[in-house]
Amino acid sequence: MEREILLLKLGEVVLKGLNRRRFEDRLMSNAARRLRKCGRFQISIRQSTIYAEPLDDSCDMDAAYQAARQVFGVVRVARACPCEKNMDSIFITAKTALEKEFQNARSFKVESKRADKNFPMNSIEISREIGGRLAEAFPAVRVDVRNPDLIVYIEIRERAAYVHTPSAKGAGGLPVGTGGRAMSLLSGGLDSPVASYMLARRGVELDMIHFVSPPYTSRQALDKVLELAKVLTPYCGRLPVHIMPFTRIQEEIRKNCPEEYFTLIMRRFMMRLAEKMALKTGAKALITGESLGQVASQTMDALRVTRDVVAMPIFRPLIGMDKVEIIQMAHEIGTYDISILPYEDCCTVFTPRRPATRPDLKSVRDAEAVLNIDALCGESLSGAERVIVKA
Ligand code: ATP
Ligand code: MG
Repeated sequence: MEREILLLKLGEVVLKGLNRRRFEDRLMSNAARRLRKCGRFQISIRQSTIYAEPLDDSCDMDAAYQAARQVFGVVRVARACPCEKNMDSIFITAKTALEKEFQNARSFKVESKRADKNFPMNSIEISREIGGRLAEAFPAVRVDVRNPDLIVYIEIRERAAYVHTPSAKGAGGLPVGTGGRAMSLLSGGLDSPVASYMLARRGVELDMIHFVSPPYTSRQALDKVLELAKVLTPYCGRLPVHIMPFTRIQEEIRKNCPEEYFTLIMRRFMMRLAEKMALKTGAKALITGESLGQVASQTMDALRVTRDVVAMPIFRPLIGMDKVEIIQMAHEIGTYDISILPYEDCCTVFTPRRPATRPDLKSVRDAEAVLNIDALCGESLSGAERVIVKA
């Protein structure tokens, strides 16, 4: 029997018109890069499906299957056995490849799809014949078309026929790299990793920026953020993380500004610095994990105050989500357990006792005018460090 292969079904990419080729090429190269660490694969694309064929027996198919499910742009992934396009070899392949599945099932059905319309039988005929022969081969398992334990899929495609069991859900979205580049403000919290994931899923290539305030924030807090970035790499690819010194800025704010505005002024500095870094890396938007009303600095008035200092669009994909929904997503993408580790973030040092929830823009501007904003930003930028986080 031939080696098992992976079929990656494309999602929204197939709706693209003239651009479709560009999306497909990007998806293929993303998939190829992610699968490379699981062995040598030949990657090709035909009829809205990427074929990943192992070139030798050393390929780790379990790992490749998992990796393929994390590639944005792919909606479903199936492990399939290729065979010749005739009924005998389809039957023998199904019987051999799915023997274990048949032993564990009490009922089954066959579903066929004929993409190659030159094949002499239609899909109903194929299902009926293969179903009959399989029922004979496994007499303990009966045919049940309504609610079977096992579904055997047969696809007659251009080059070969494929036999597989149900496909698993892929990550969906659009291929990373087709949606431009953005700078994501990554804290160690629950929200910003989810926000980053959501934009990456729309094809956006990410740069991460993280603000540190030693000695108020610890090395562990930074390691936690790098660990979060690492969890995102199977989806996003390698991630540059820009680590920005923020201690001086926070101390100056505390020394010179009214307490009720501490957080807002601090966030205005974060936005300025993120935009400046974005301009350096070619990123064209900022991403935050803000959600309307979640905390004092995320009321509508507060958001207006923080967005005031930058010209770039700010994407806040969580703006309308509830905390429980965000937590659910954090579980799904695997960031939850790291996010809840209890290290201090620079946002939680020097928090005002009574933060302004309906800040007046002019008052905040006036309050921060005593600071030498350019010099403070320049200092942070010149102390910035870049780490590349890889899978
Ligand atoms: P998160 O769960 O992402 O930390 P949060 O609900 O704790 O969000 P804030 O702490 O007010 O909210 O932060 C709002 C947003 O600002 C974060 O989602 C993140 O995008 C950004 N941010 C906060 N702290 C930092 C930091 N130290 N470095 C980089 N970005 C940060
Ligand atoms: Mg936070």
